[in-house]
Formats: sequence, structure tokens, C-alpha cells
Amino acid sequence: MKITNKFNVPEPLVALAKKEYYTKGKADYSVTEIMSPPRIQRLRRRHWDDMEQDVTDTLWSMLGSALHVVAERSEVHDHLNEERIYVEVDDVVLSGSIDLQQQVKGGIALKDYKFTSVWAVMNDKPEWEQQLNVYAWMVHKVKGVAIKGLQICAILRDWSSRKAQNESDYPPAQIQMVDIPIWSFDKTEKYVRSRVELHKESKVLADWDEELPECTEEERWVRSTTYAVKKEGRKTAVRVFDTQEEADKLIAEADEKDRSKLSVEVRKGEPVRCAGNYCGVNQWCSQYQNYLKEQSC
Ligand code: SF4
Repeated sequence: MKITNKFNVPEPLVALAKKEYYTKGKADYSVTEIMSPPRIQRLRRRHWDDMEQDVTDTLWSMLGSALHVVAERSEVHDHLNEERIYVEVDDVVLSGSIDLQQQVKGGIALKDYKFTSVWAVMNDKPEWEQQLNVYAWMVHKVKGVAIKGLQICAILRDWSSRKAQNESDYPPAQIQMVDIPIWSFDKTEKYVRSRVELHKESKVLADWDEELPECTEEERWVRSTTYAVKKEGRKTAVRVFDTQEEADKLIAEADEKDRSKLSVEVRKGEPVRCAGNYCGVNQWCSQYQNYLKEQSC
């Protein structure tokens, strides 16, 4: 991966961005790798040397790494920082790096630090639940201890104190502890095996992009098309609908004097992860390139 410096930031930051803090050690896969779509993983491995990222786009991952380094230095009784754990499953070695393990009555509680957005803590994040439950499964397998709690320590990078004072459902502080439901051991093991199998199969297909399993709508972060009713002189939409019919109906039912000021703005849906190249491989991905061709027809 090449790190560019398009905005001329100081070289020490560039050097930091180039440094890889993350290593999966002797493992075949990390937990986050098996959770992510096989298509992304295969394409990233294949095109790693050609991939490019600007240093300014690495800020949050740099700060994430920095937080882990700082956390490692903080020694607190009954708390274990940054432990890497290995588990063999179906001839594959899986590794997971557990941010924090706290000794609690009857077992261990696991916590994971995330630099994230306010939106993330106000909405469901199934990947947090998957990741922490796989860690719990690994810790239980390796240490034989009961897992008594799972939490995300969410550090909200876009938090606003003004909104916290004025909006009742807004997170009240910049750091939020998010409780994660604990799965049964069997459910997690089934999940791990299914993900490992998927990645093993796609490894065999690594050289035939067309045959790689396609990313699902959920994995592509597909945002549906919506229909916003706008009013002349007003910045925000009056209402946003899922269908054109609903938007048209609102206008048809409006007072006659208002009707001429209303219009429908079509907000076209798209696969956000592909279009924003959040996977980093959209230029080499046949699934996304085919999608673009279909859109241009
Ligand atoms: S471009 Fe889209 S479909 Fe292709 S690998 Fe990335 S997320 Fe998946």
C-alpha cells in the first residue's frame, strides 16, 4: 500500500501512517478479516502493492493505533490490556487482539475501544456484536473462563456538546459504553466456522475475480433511493419517502396555495461502501464495475 501526502502534512505523520501497528502474527486470518467479505479480502491481498491512500485519510486509524499504545502503558489492577489470542479452527489459525479484559465476579468482561461516529452508537452495529462474541468464544476456548460481559468503549469523534444539551436521544458524553449481547458458545462457533469456510473457499478462487462470492447488499452498505418533498425557500426537506407515489400524494393533498411551492427531489440510492471506495478495491472489483455499467445504460 502506497501512502501519498497530497496536502503536505509533516513527514513524521507520513512515517507514522506507513508504519503497520497491526499484525496478525502467526495466524492465517484475524477475526476482523474473517468477518469482512471474502471479495474485499482477496482483492486487497491481490492488489495490495497497487493500492494507494493519502496520509490524511489515515488519521482515525493512526489515532486508534495510538490509543492502543497508550492503553498498553496503563496498568490497572484486574485489567489486562492488549492480549493476542490464537485458536485453531478447521485447520486454520485465527487470531484476535483483545483490547481489554477485566476480572469480574465469576469470570471476565471484555471491552473493545472504537473511534467512531455518533450515528454508530445511535444505530445497530451488527459487526460489533459479531466481533466481540468471536473474541469471547476465543477467550473461553483458550482460558476456559466464563464471559460475564461485552462492551464497546465508543469514543465519538463527531460528538457535539450543544446537541447533547438540546437533543434527548443524543449521547450525553463523548465516550459511551455500549453493552453487547452475549451469544451462546454454539451460536458463535457456528458463525466462526461458516466465515472460515467462506474465506477458505474464496482463497481457492483467488485468481478468478468473477467467481469470488459477491458482496451482499448489507456488505455494500446499500442505501435505497428516497424521495424528498422540498418547499421553496426551505433548506431541509418537508418529508422524505421511500416511494415516489407517497411523495406525490403529499403534494396532491397540500393546500392549494402551498402546492406550487412543493417539489420532489429524487435522492438516488447507491452502494455506499463501493461508491466511496471504503473497501479500497473498487477499481479492481468486477461486481462494482458491472454495477457502474448497468447504471450508465
Ligand atoms: S467495490 Fe463493493 S462489491 Fe466490490 S469489493 Fe468493494 S464493497 Fe465489495
